[in-house]
Amino acid sequence: MTYDPSNIFGKILRGELPAHKVYEDDTALVMMDIFPQSRGHTLIVPKAASRNLLDADPATLAAVIPLVQRVARAAKAVTGADGVRVAQFNEAPAGQTVFHLHFHVIPAYDGVPLGAHAGGKADDAELIALAKDIAAAL
Ligand code: AMP
Repeated sequence: MTYDPSNIFGKILRGELPAHKVYEDDTALVMMDIFPQSRGHTLIVPKAASRNLLDADPATLAAVIPLVQRVARAAKAVTGADGVRVAQFNEAPAGQTVFHLHFHVIPAYDGVPLGAHAGGKADDAELIALAKDIAAAL
């Protein structure tokens, strides 16, 4: 399988589609998932082109994992979550739906089951507020 630049995250990285951005640097973009599995569901998207973990440059992984940790800590602090799931899917049978490498940071709350993967769309105003608060906590 080769990388197809027409995927949604490729378009967001090129500025062709909007996103609720939390943070951006030379290596990655952080944004709110618009179909969140929980309040504060955030995505870390490396800028380097790869379908997923399997074809990623190890240097990209080395650069992005500390950012995943920062986002996980910030999202937990901002939401008051009791835990955080970090997830990453490789190819459709494993649950991948967007074929540009990304990591999910999904806050988890005591007694609240996580929502369906890529389920209902979140309220834009709530995503804007969360993006601002998580950015401030990074
Ligand atoms: P995956 O299934 O691991 O490929 O994850 C893709 C994620 O992208 C899902 O959790 C979707 O809810 C999310 N998603 C899809 N389209 C967008 C979008 N335009 N902006 C932000 N998140 C998106």
